[in-house]
Amino acid sequence: MAPAAPERHNLRMAERVIPLVDQRVAARAATVPGRAITPSGLLADQLGRPLRDLRISVTDRCNFRCSYCMPKEVFDKDYKYLPHADLLTFEEITRVARLFAQHGVRKIRLTGGEPLLRKNIEVLIEQLAQLRTPEGEPLELTLTTNGSLLARKAKALKAAGLQRVTVSLDGLDDAVFRRMNDVNFPVAEVLAGIDAARDAGLGPVKVNMVVKRGTNEHEILPMARHFKGTGIVLRFIEYMDVGSSNGWCMDEVVPSAEVIRTISAEMPLVPLEAAIPGETAQRWAYADGSGEVGVISSVTQAFCADCNRARLSTEGQLYLCLFATHGHDLRSLLRGDASDEDIASAIGHIWQQRDDRYSQLRASLPADARAGQRRVEMSYIGG
Ligand code: SAM
Repeated sequence: MAPAAPERHNLRMAERVIPLVDQRVAARAATVPGRAITPSGLLADQLGRPLRDLRISVTDRCNFRCSYCMPKEVFDKDYKYLPHADLLTFEEITRVARLFAQHGVRKIRLTGGEPLLRKNIEVLIEQLAQLRTPEGEPLELTLTTNGSLLARKAKALKAAGLQRVTVSLDGLDDAVFRRMNDVNFPVAEVLAGIDAARDAGLGPVKVNMVVKRGTNEHEILPMARHFKGTGIVLRFIEYMDVGSSNGWCMDEVVPSAEVIRTISAEMPLVPLEAAIPGETAQRWAYADGSGEVGVISSVTQAFCADCNRARLSTEGQLYLCLFATHGHDLRSLLRGDASDEDIASAIGHIWQQRDDRYSQLRASLPADARAGQRRVEMSYIGG
């Protein structure tokens, strides 16, 4: 196991002092097990959960500074992003994604950081679009973006083989949105990006809104009204204690039940069945048939029991949970002399050992144990 990294910063936000530890070096070497694990698509972890969804972070950089994700005080001009040579190349990402597909992954989501900042991302999408499941089906290929570059890039992304996009947008009020992204970025440009994505055929477009008490909960209804009846699926995300730099506290979480009550009081909602096992969002339909909304309730209603997601960091570390404290270094295998069979075995072994269920355990963990854990930043492993 790698030694704990030294503290990098002391961050003072309001009354809180948050020591930020660089978790990027806290990876365990991925080892090739003695007994080969041949991909069969039937891999299961310690809790019987299959591997179906791979999120790939293609950059740790972002042009926004949302306080709940990449606060300016930490991600400032002195922050050391990964050097380019440390990033997985497109060929390395595609090679490892092919092995994940053989193990049962059906869906790939590109994320970051802001994935549209990665140069020539269309080339990676073209390569990933060629991958097939063991049954010969193309993988579901999606991307999560802050939407700032989408108006410019939507057509090229579609042409490269991207199927859908999810756009993050935390409010419709321009002043609120500019404050939340903390780089004064206007809401109109993100809305233009959403329109461009829909026009390019990257639908159904989903819009994710993180709801933070005292910051943007008054935007719940305007957002719901705006997207109702448009075919765009709005999803409300509970503010989560990911990473170690956002100074998270429970008081700032708006429970999804409250979001649903707020919307339903004006626009009645009825619950829908999950479309796919392992889905992160609980779905609700407007009773008048004009579409649906979703809620992602990682804090108040943990969905670890059927979590089938793995995350590949920008530099090739495999994370088994959004709240993980360490990853498994696949890059050293990719850049060493390991064969595809070796790397597939290593992935299989890592997944078979997986027993993470942080969100389910969160409530039973003493607060000081939670605070003591130095979790990896979301901008690094991808949302
Ligand atoms: N830059 C892209 C974007 O804005 O969508 C992709 C990366 S971002 C880390 C992915 C998603 O994570 C965004 O929807 C963002 O709002 C969400 N997110 C980041 N930090 C969060 C937190 N502490 N709680 C809940 N959601 C968070």
